Amino acid sequence: MFIHCTKCDWCQDDFWSEEYNPVRREMERLSKLVEKAIDKENPEREYKTDRIMAAQRGMPFGVNEEGFAVIDIRDYIAKSLEVVARSVRKMHWLTKDDFDKDSNQRCPTCGSELTVD
Ligand SMILES: [Zn+2]
Repeated sequence: MFIHCTKCDWCQDDFWSEEYNPVRREMERLSKLVEKAIDKENPEREYKTDRIMAAQRGMPFGVNEEGFAVIDIRDYIAKSLEVVARSVRKMHWLTKDDFDKDSNQRCPTCGSELTVD
């Protein structure tokens, strides 16, 4: 479930539940990359990903001959942590139940109407 404001850039990607924890998911995804980033024996210092995803997350990247975004693995880890931290800070309703019970389901930043996808 994606909730976003109809007037400003506030959004909330999802609610926390037993099945979904955005911080845990990101940490599990990054854990192997963290090992590569600090392993001096590992020559893999670049992370290849989708250019749209990299641009949406505000990551600095180059483009390789296959059209993938190429990012310094340390920059990728740091930016991914910043993105998840920003997401947690912007989270207004912790659970779906919190959202459903709120009689004032309006943008917490500007007070405008919300769209739920
Ligand atoms: Zn707003």
